[in-house]
Amino acid sequence: EGRETRLRVVLRVRPLTCTEARRGDQQVVHSLGDGAVHVSAARHDATFGFSAVFDAGASQEAVFEGSGMRQLVELAIDGFSCTVFAFGQTGSGKTYTLMGPLAQSETQPASPALLGLMQRSFTCLLEQSRSRGSDLALSASYLEIYNEQVRDLLSPGPPRALPLRWSKTRGFYVENQLSVEFESLEAIVSLLLQGSQRRRTSAHALNRHSSRSHALLTIRIRSRAVSAHPAPGEGWGASACPSKQGTLCFVDLAGSERVKETGSSGELSVEANSINRSLLALGHCISLLAKPRGKRTHIPYRDSKLTRLLARSLGGSGITLMVACISPSSRCLSETLSTLHYASRARRVTARP
Ligand code: ADP
Ligand code: MG
Repeated sequence: EGRETRLRVVLRVRPLTCTEARRGDQQVVHSLGDGAVHVSAARHDATFGFSAVFDAGASQEAVFEGSGMRQLVELAIDGFSCTVFAFGQTGSGKTYTLMGPLAQSETQPASPALLGLMQRSFTCLLEQSRSRGSDLALSASYLEIYNEQVRDLLSPGPPRALPLRWSKTRGFYVENQLSVEFESLEAIVSLLLQGSQRRRTSAHALNRHSSRSHALLTIRIRSRAVSAHPAPGEGWGASACPSKQGTLCFVDLAGSERVKETGSSGELSVEANSINRSLLALGHCISLLAKPRGKRTHIPYRDSKLTRLLARSLGGSGITLMVACISPSSRCLSETLSTLHYASRARRVTARP
């Protein structure tokens, strides 16, 4: 607590898809073990290091256990603001990692082995909640950022843009966002499906919009003050324990393709307006945050809705896990390298939870 910690970055390399395998794509990404990954192609030969690397053979469970996701859930219960975000080009496995294939087919429920980080975290959260008695109050909100508009994915009716505000006590927050209390795994999974369904339905109308939108599911965990009697001789006992409030936020970021290096500010602002301002702003904030504390300049969280919403978890007091997703195919090489560079830079970001 209060100590400087680094953002934890893990990498997931998905298997070649059937289409990629059928057309004979070369695999250019190889895991070397110990968190190292090697990219080798005609004119590229590079090794990158992460906290963990999951290759094509890694199960959903292995990713949950090996990424530190379980600890993140526990820290959120302890009152920290925890965020996990999946990053990578469209088709690299972000949604699969977070939700499993379940999000793709509405009719058939996925096999339990394929459930993603989100469902596994919910299970873990509810188990903990049960084992602690009923002193945890859980609620969820689900929104997306599309074209710099924040929309509620849970409230009924057509998606409406909600204002993003700032207050001294709350920091940045979304006004009038629906927050739904839940007590069971079925309830939260059904909220997740409902919201993802709304995101997908509008994606059909708005041509590939889902790969251009960021989805944020936030779980608020309030532990009510413990009213147990102090043990004899224990001075002020558990009754003096303040109530805690933690959050666990899952971010399925928009596809990172077409996002240029956050080099010159001129290029940045032009692209920002037309393509994906949020993702560019996030890259920009990350590269500034990656500088040593003494050399940091102002961090422009206000540049986009996404960075405003992630300000606390990225820059200040939150704990963040980033899951970078890549395809092993030679055809994705340049996007893969750009994701690897982005993720490597993110490893230098520090926070004081
Ligand atoms: P994204 O959300 O990054 O656009 P998806 O999660 O939709 O990508 O994944 C693209 C495709 O690849 C989907 O058909 C998905 O089922 C498949 N896929 C992704 N990751 C894996 C994996 N680890 N194992 C098996 N299939 C995967
Ligand atoms: Mg997706």
